[in-house]
Parts: sequence; structure tokens; C-alpha cells
Amino acid sequence: MEGNGDHAVVAGASVAGLLAARVLSDAYARVTVVERDARSPIGEHRKGVPQGRHVHGLLPRGVEIVDDLFPAFTDELTQAGAHFCELFQGALFCPAGRPLARIRTGLRSLHASRPFLEGHLRERVQALANVEFVDRCDVVGLVADEDRDRVTGIRLLRRADGSAEEVLAADLVIDATGRASRTPAWLDALGYPRPEEEQVQIRLGYASCPLRLHPGALNGDQLVLFGAEPGRPSGLALSAIEGDGWMLSLFGYGEHRPPGGVEGFWSFAAQVAPPDLLRVIRDAEPLDRIVLHRLDSNLRRRYERLHRFPDGLVVVGDALCSFNPIYAQGMTVAALEAVALRRCLEGGGDHLARRFFRAAAKTLDHAWRMATGADLALPVVEGRRPLPVRIVNAYMRRLLAVATHDPAVATIFMRVTGMVDPLATLFRPTVAFRVLRPARGRTGAAASPGP
Ligand SMILES: Cc1cc2nc3c(=O)[nH]c(=O)nc-3n(C[C@H](O)[C@H](O)[C@H](O)COP(=O)(O)OP(=O)(O)OC[C@H]3O[C@@H](n4cnc5c(N)ncnc54)[C@H](O)[C@@H]3O)c2cc1C
Repeated sequence: MEGNGDHAVVAGASVAGLLAARVLSDAYARVTVVERDARSPIGEHRKGVPQGRHVHGLLPRGVEIVDDLFPAFTDELTQAGAHFCELFQGALFCPAGRPLARIRTGLRSLHASRPFLEGHLRERVQALANVEFVDRCDVVGLVADEDRDRVTGIRLLRRADGSAEEVLAADLVIDATGRASRTPAWLDALGYPRPEEEQVQIRLGYASCPLRLHPGALNGDQLVLFGAEPGRPSGLALSAIEGDGWMLSLFGYGEHRPPGGVEGFWSFAAQVAPPDLLRVIRDAEPLDRIVLHRLDSNLRRRYERLHRFPDGLVVVGDALCSFNPIYAQGMTVAALEAVALRRCLEGGGDHLARRFFRAAAKTLDHAWRMATGADLALPVVEGRRPLPVRIVNAYMRRLLAVATHDPAVATIFMRVTGMVDPLATLFRPTVAFRVLRPARGRTGAAASPGP
């Protein structure tokens, strides 16, 4: 690809950084990935990704994209112990209090522990001849040309030897350092405006514990999900992971967050899980300690709205937008952004950032509306609910009730939440007809919305 330059640098070797590095390896002679943490063996947790100790699933669209970027990747992963979940045949999926129809949608999500998935991804990127990793190194700032029109590299500090700052020159810098990204401050220091930040406060808490269940305890299911409801703003996700393990994550909003401690964990689980499921998880063997995580908001940085932005810099992944994790969108959104980046690179280096941020914004609109819309359906979440949000939430409440017995609606719902089809699909006349037609002899609609 012409006009892009020779060397690209990616800050952050987590999922978004690894996927970006894969795409950049086709467009640049050299790609350097700079990561703060030391390289860890596959499946081992690391400090820079604390969310890795909680349930992580890859949505159907994410599965398609990683297989496109790394042929047969997900097959390799399942051979190594990860699990495909056939939606909804292999999943007890209760986004709004009642299970969705157990039908074959033709969609698969991928389930493994987060460090297992990321470790395999890194192996594949590491195998690319023109990609080099520099671990145990902090990116501490950007370097720009004299006019400050273009970012020309990064400043970094090697953790191993505590030596002085170094400069690594680059034709393109990708910030994939996650939600705590310092690009807004670095832009400020270069005389650029910071991006507007949009937030929907959720004050979400997770508590997770890996378990070993009795064989066959879930009759072949790989995933159990109980979503939050207006009357009970808490839920749980139980997902198969590699090595016959399971990851149980409990979550709740605001004052309904799961508490620390073993007793608190199990009494919280008892409030969310139906008795048969509670028996299964209580009979299981805990494989590690209980770990808590807190996330205060959905956070979107509107780089696409900036009128001034330097060339040579792009922001991806959670650094651009991070969502309420219960909807499992983050890694799939990072994959969609990698696809958008690839397309933009094919168009050459001119105005790359502007073109990328606009393209990414379309993907983010979908994910953002899904996540924040579902959050705002819960009274516990503070925020404005203009009429369109209230109408959509009423419609979604009904759609989920219909999806409990209508295979067509359940499939469309999963295609949209799996990010295979656009959000607008849910509102097509043919779907709206099925959702809104009077319930002839049906059981009543569940009184709760969901994602
Ligand atoms: C509790 C929880 C559960 C989740 N569950 C799911 C799920 O089921 N499915 C899903 O798709 N997503 C899920 N997510 C979201 C998912 O984890 C992220 O969207 C995904 O990891 C992409 O993030 P990222 O690569 O942009 O950033 P991160 O994963 O946050 O990684 C940032 C990387 O940058 C490195 N770094 C940071 N600062 C520097 C620096 N200055 N210099 C060098 N390196 C640096 C860090 O060490 C780290 O490796 C969940 C998130 C949470 C919090």
C-alpha cells in the first residue's frame, strides 16, 4: 500500500493493539508493538489487563473477523481447549428474565479465558516476520514535527533498566493503551483540543471466580446468561473456558454491585441464579480466589468531531470507546475497527486519522446505542431518556418477550447483538410486524427490557 510510510508503532499489546498490528503488517515494512507488561505465558494473567479475570466471550462477528485476519484461528483455539457456543442451542440466554427460544441461529460465539484468547492472538502476531514486540516499556508521550502538524514517534521508558527516555520514530502511531489512554493529555500538550467525552454512568461492579463444574452439570451448554432487569439490576454470566474450567461472573449496578468476600459472593449469586443453577455452581470447585472489578461508565471519546488533529496518529479499542462489558462488545468492536483501519490504509496515508475516526464512528454508533440504550432501560442508571430512547426501550422489551417463542425474532436479535447485522435490522417492517402484532394466545410479555 503506497503512501503510508515505512514504520508503524502500536502502543499496547492487548486485543485492540494486536489486531491493529496484524492489519498494519500488510501496509508497513516494519511494525513495532510497545507494551508495558512483560510477555506472559499463554493463559496467564497480567497486570495491564485486570479485566482478564472476568468472563470474556467473542461475539459471532468477532469470530468471523479474527478468522479472516488469522486463518483458522478459532479452530486452532478450540482444538487447544476453547469452546464454540452454538447460539442458542448451547446457551441458556435470559437477557430479560425468560430464556430466548432454543433455536439454531447458525451463529457461534467463542469462549475461553481472556489470557488464553489474547495469548494465542499474540502468538499469531508474533509469527509475522515484520512485527517486533518491545515489552516492559512505557509509552510516556508523543513526538511531533517542528510545526506540530504530524506525530513522528513516541517517547518511551524501558522498565527493565530504569534508563532515560528514548524516542522511537514512526510514520504512524496507534494508541491501543485502553480506557486510561493518555492521548487526550498528549494532544493538549501539543496544542490540540482534547476530544469531547461522552459518558453514561453505570457504576457497574463485577465479581468473578473460575470454577470446575461436575461433568455434564449443564447438559452440554457452554454459556448461561442472566441479564439485569429493572426490578433486579444485577445478573450473572457463566461461561465455559479452556481446560474443563468455567468462569462465573456476577455483576450489578450502583448499590446492587456484588460485595467482596466468599459469603457475599454466594449470597449475591443466590439472588440472581434460579435454584437449579445455584445448585450447580455451589457444587462446583472454586479454582482460584474471587476477584472484583469496577467500571463507572460507558465512555466514548469523540475524536471524529475534532476539527484539528495531527497526522500520523490513530486511537483504537477501549482508548476510543469502552462499553459496559456485560454486552461483550469490546473485543468485537476492536476487530471491526481493525477492518476499518485496513480499508483506510488501502486508501493511502492522506488524512488517515480523519477517515479512520469517521469509519470507526459508524461501528461505535451501533455498539454505543445498544449498550447505553439497554443501560438506560434500567431505572438505576442515571441519565436523560429522551422520547426516542423510551420508545426504543419499550420496543426492545416487547421484542425480547417475542424472542422467547419466535425463532425468527430470536435469530434477528442475536444477529444484531452478535454485531453481524446492523442495529436498524431490529426495526425493519417485517420484524416490527412480528414484534408488534397482538399476542394471539401467547403468554404475556416479560415485564423487563434487556440488551
Ligand atoms: C470486566 C470486563 C469484562 C469484559 N468482558 C468482555 C467480553 O466478554 N467480551 C468482549 O469482547 N470484551 C469484554 N470486555 C472488554 C475488553 O476487555 C476490551 O474491550 C478489550 O480488551 C480491548 O481493549 P484494548 O485492547 O483497547 O485495551 P486493554 O485491554 O485495556 O489493553 C491496554 C493495553 O495497553 C497496555 N498499556 C497501557 N498503557 C500503556 C503505556 N503507557 N505504554 C505501554 N503499554 C501500555 C496495557 O498493559 C494493556 O496491555 C470486558 C471488559 C471488562 C472490564
